[in-house]
Amino acid sequence: MNSLCEEGLSPVPGLIHRYPDRVVWVISNSCAVYCRFCMRKRQVGCARPAPSEAAIDAALHYIASSPAVRDVILSGGDPLLMEDDRLADLLERLRRIPHVEIIRIGTRVPVTLPERITPRFCRMVRRFHPLYVNTHFNHPREITPASALACARLADAGIPLGNQTVLLKGVNDDPAVMRELMLGLLRIRVKPYYIHQMDLVRGTCHFRTPVATGIAVMEALRGHVSGLATPYYVIDLAGGEGKVPLLPDYASRDGDLLKLRNYRGEIVEYRDVTNGEVTTPRG
Ligand SMILES: *Cc1c(COP(=O)(O)O)cnc(C)c1O
Ligand code: SF4
Repeated sequence: MNSLCEEGLSPVPGLIHRYPDRVVWVISNSCAVYCRFCMRKRQVGCARPAPSEAAIDAALHYIASSPAVRDVILSGGDPLLMEDDRLADLLERLRRIPHVEIIRIGTRVPVTLPERITPRFCRMVRRFHPLYVNTHFNHPREITPASALACARLADAGIPLGNQTVLLKGVNDDPAVMRELMLGLLRIRVKPYYIHQMDLVRGTCHFRTPVATGIAVMEALRGHVSGLATPYYVIDLAGGEGKVPLLPDYASRDGDLLKLRNYRGEIVEYRDVTNGEVTTPRG
């Protein structure tokens, strides 16, 4: 079991079907680096075999016979540790399934092995649009000329780029560092998508931050910088219960009167309606 008990939601080996319209497909067990905080630690590395041909056939069959699945997220490990031809073959087979509208690739390779994003790879992958890539930068220092070039090549191939960051104590749990990271990502055409509260993985508690730290980071982003630079801060609940976004407290309610706090801390009142009914203030 990994830290999120995802195997319990796995209809066939390698597929995680938690939400109605999308599946995560673990197609690679290798990464370019092995991150200390990784929640898929038990699934990556040489101890775990790569998916067999039979498992790949079974996953494709499951997706093909599940018309509700319109979004397939290729994950791992890192899918980009697979060779171009093998990846192209999988993408081709996925694209033959009419109800698969979008394909996403989750990969840390633009950061950890940017040379992997070759012009040849980009020519291959752009045949499978609409295709999205979500990458994983955790610190502004990971934005180097090499990682910026990798992202530029993907963006030039028409691939919308998103980023998932893990909130790590002593690394990026500082609003100034996170702001620099988010703005730096936008400059290389990567849209900040999620900041993840770190999953509970054995041996990583020195990276754990209280939720209040993540809320403080969000507070320092929303309103202070471009909305494009503001991701969702989420906790991925154990047991396959889903991702839940966490926000600073911006609103309190007194009957139909909402008291809304803006980014400068000013409280502004807003009168709500409740389906045309007259509401009486509590009191
Ligand atoms: C995170 C996740 C997804 C994708 O969620 P989005 O919010 O659509 O990015 C899908 N399935 C599983 C199992 C996940 O953990
Ligand atoms: S690259 Fe991603 S999947 Fe691989 S070890 Fe790091 S966090 Fe885990």
